[in-house]
Amino acid sequence: MKSKHEPVLIALVFIGILLAMPIILPCMVVSDARRKRRLRRCARTTVCEECGQLLGDASIELSNLECQKSIEKLNIKPSRVNHRRVRQNDAICPNCKAEYRFVPKRSELLRVWECDVGTIIDHQRRDLPDSPTKRALRAAVLKTPQRYDSRWLLVYETSPKVLYDPKTGDYALLGLGGQVTEVGDVAGVVSTLEELA
Ligand SMILES: [Zn+2]
Repeated sequence: MKSKHEPVLIALVFIGILLAMPIILPCMVVSDARRKRRLRRCARTTVCEECGQLLGDASIELSNLECQKSIEKLNIKPSRVNHRRVRQNDAICPNCKAEYRFVPKRSELLRVWECDVGTIIDHQRRDLPDSPTKRALRAAVLKTPQRYDSRWLLVYETSPKVLYDPKTGDYALLGLGGQVTEVGDVAGVVSTLEELA
């Protein structure tokens, strides 16, 4: 049964949202400005992994330009929402055109394909037969892979930790002393972890 107070409640919620608008909107603008400032600061200190050149302000301008071109090509309104929708990167190396995405939580610019590594390793893990080791891997997966060195990315925070090479698709285990032992594919990770257990 519908309450007779329902229309009053809906009206109150609506008025509440309207009243909160002057607070919500400036908050959105401030957080957007803050993100941009942090991105700029990060680009000014990040060196391109491919060519070694400092990314700098020019890398952000290149990314903005590319986003603007996509908007024009798609012939859509240049609104903030649309900008966010079409944006593929936050910085592009002015020298070699390597693309980077900003990870605000860690104030870090990561290669665009590094951001996609998570999806790739998730798919590979899902294809494995169910086992306690598979479940342990799922629980220990890093949301964004972390760079370990020029070849390896840290992808699973298991013990020992698991590394992944996005160029070759190889996996390796990281010993406590820092030694890297290659184990082949994800099935190799599982069998080696089970042997060690
Ligand atoms: Zn570069």
